Amino acid sequence: MKILQDLSLSQLEEVIASLNEPKYRAKQIYENIYLGKSLEEMTNVPKNIKESLEKDFLSEPIKIIKTLEDEEGTKKFLYSLFDGNIIEGVLMKYKYGNTLCVSTQVGCRMGCKFCASSLNGIVRNLSAGEILGQVLCVNRLLGGTAKKREITNLVLMGSGEPLDNFHEVTKFLQLVTSKDGINFSARNISLSTCGIVPNIKKLAEIGLPIILTISLHAPNDNIRKTIMPIANKYSIKEIISASRNYFEKTGRRVIFEYALISGVNDSFECAKELATVVKGFPTHVNLIPLNEVKERGLKTVSRKNAEKFCEALKNMGVSASVRRTIGENIEGACGQLRNKVLKEGEAR
Ligand code: SAH
Repeated sequence: MKILQDLSLSQLEEVIASLNEPKYRAKQIYENIYLGKSLEEMTNVPKNIKESLEKDFLSEPIKIIKTLEDEEGTKKFLYSLFDGNIIEGVLMKYKYGNTLCVSTQVGCRMGCKFCASSLNGIVRNLSAGEILGQVLCVNRLLGGTAKKREITNLVLMGSGEPLDNFHEVTKFLQLVTSKDGINFSARNISLSTCGIVPNIKKLAEIGLPIILTISLHAPNDNIRKTIMPIANKYSIKEIISASRNYFEKTGRRVIFEYALISGVNDSFECAKELATVVKGFPTHVNLIPLNEVKERGLKTVSRKNAEKFCEALKNMGVSASVRRTIGENIEGACGQLRNKVLKEGEAR
């Protein structure tokens, strides 16, 4: 089944032309799509057009089936997909606006040892329209429209590895930044990757100045290999070279994510080694005390030790900060909520 949200305006115009309907209908339907409406809800579109489209297209790819909220207003959503799979997303409120974290795959096949997303492996890729659907349905929930968006920033940091679903993710980026649709500024979108080097290079070629975030989590390949299987494929040296190339092509400094894990990557020696790795071009290190995932058995560090690690980096001339952990009480880490729900399902 095809998904209506996968289409660009010109593709929808082609579909409308093939139905022998006037071109303006495409624009009208497109506007409705970007209001987050399903075909059924498009009251200004004639029934016969809706019925023809319904034969070939699904128009409600994403449904929110559960919402958790913490005391700071962070919301975690559980969405269902047309085939019964579930994914999750997080909405974070900051002073400057609302940031939505979207998923790009059902599950993940990267196997990072600290992450809940790959506990059950990968089920499938999401299509561009399914990724976009997350944005449209949360924007609608918040009372936003395409012209007056209630979501200011997007981060591709939910379940899945965006660069392992390169085609659909880049199609999504084109759709979500299109003036025909919801018109996001690429500068307000971050894509986080565990470091699939050839696709980092391809992303740099696309010419969208999105923020590239690399999940580094270790200062050398030996430590990295113990927590991230992808490190067996690409070295930190290759990742840094691709990151530098990304900066040169897009002019955007690269962010390195570093989850501090007690006894694994949190020593002063690690900070020293990390400083040498990320220096030399504009970068920033985001430190985050590990969000403990019970099944994984790894331990987090205290806030105080995270601050110490951060100070050490700064003293060595590295731009760094400790990210506040958000959503800890609502299964905030990638894949945690989905796993909990899957497990509850099994227990039933
Ligand atoms: N696959 C992408 C997106 C994943 S999630 C990537 O690897 O970047 C976004 C970030 O959360 C990544 O940096 C990921 O490594 C990190 N992360 C995953 N599980 C975590 C946990 N339990 N605690 C802290 N950070 C975690």
